[in-house]
Amino acid sequence: MSSRYSGKQSNDARILTVIGNRPQFIKAAAVSGPLRDVADEVLVHTGQHYDDELSQVFFDELGLPRPEHRLELGGGSNTSQTARMLAALEPLLAHERPAMVLVYGDTNSTLAGALAAAQAAIPVAHVEAGMRSYDRTMPEELNRVLTDHASDLLLCSAEAPAEILRGERVVGEIEVVGDVMVDVAQLLGPRAAARTAALERFGVTPREYVLATAHRPGNVDDPARLERLVALLEAVPRPVVLPLHPRTGARLQAAGLRARLDGNVVLTPPLGYLDFTALLHNARAVLTDSGGVQKEAYLAGVPCVTLRRVTEWRETVEVGWNALVDLDADAARTALERTPPAERPPLYGDGRAGERVVAALARRMGA
Ligand code: UDP
Repeated sequence: MSSRYSGKQSNDARILTVIGNRPQFIKAAAVSGPLRDVADEVLVHTGQHYDDELSQVFFDELGLPRPEHRLELGGGSNTSQTARMLAALEPLLAHERPAMVLVYGDTNSTLAGALAAAQAAIPVAHVEAGMRSYDRTMPEELNRVLTDHASDLLLCSAEAPAEILRGERVVGEIEVVGDVMVDVAQLLGPRAAARTAALERFGVTPREYVLATAHRPGNVDDPARLERLVALLEAVPRPVVLPLHPRTGARLQAAGLRARLDGNVVLTPPLGYLDFTALLHNARAVLTDSGGVQKEAYLAGVPCVTLRRVTEWRETVEVGWNALVDLDADAARTALERTPPAERPPLYGDGRAGERVVAALARRMGA
């Protein structure tokens, strides 16, 4: 490979991918397969998510290859976790000498992968570049902005994030490839939607329940906000099925709020992608603070009510399929009663983003 980078010889066809949490396993599932046809992929799992329910099940269900390196670096504050990842990635990059490092989304693993690579003068490719909520109190927002400015190849889900990156004058090359989560949703959505056993397990009927998820630090770490979340879940029409993220479960327990949900909400541990997607496709509406779930609800044609003040997936709001209610229970109740628009324009590509990511990487490596 010839590039603007000099220094030690790299392994020309080697791409080192850094992933670490649930949405990244899903995104990487769209890319790893086609990538391994053209390159030597080394998959690094930072261990940011380590519970089997948030990690192993996705490797099993989505056919993601076994990671070549597992770093087991979960837990701790954002700063300490990112620092531990940086310290672990430096020698690993020196050992593997990849021609590029590939990162996804907006987590500590994303930033650590990008920064460690940039410091080692290894080009960085960022999938889902250019997303902005403009809420700097979200740890993800910092990770997104810093990763984009450390990246050489910025692969965007749509034209709007590409425009944002041009406005920010990033130094890397920008390309719109479409959204890799659409690839996975198109591939597995129909099969998942037919898994009605998942609904039977929770005693719910198609189109007669709300599927909820909540785990953003901004909603669950502060006990006062967490109490508002619980009050909101009590106030919305039942039944509500809530796969409980471990972070949320721990915070509810610590705040003594967990018991208030029992009886009001159908609680379950986090679900695998297929069962979760089955519940999503058949829900009357989705109530969530997740980024990925807002988009998946749109793709599945299920109205979404988002428990945040802002979203980086603002197109879903603009077309009328998503409403931002923060933790306002009245606003959530009203939004849940809305009839969705008749139109649902394609916003995030054609389900072939994975191929385009691989083509862009191959082009760049051959440059
Ligand atoms: N998801 C899942 N099981 C669950 C909840 C969510 O498989 O119990 C999937 C969901 O389909 C989506 C992804 O996890 O693809 C979203 O992850 P998360 O909400 O953790 O992250 P975010 O998108 O907010 O970064």
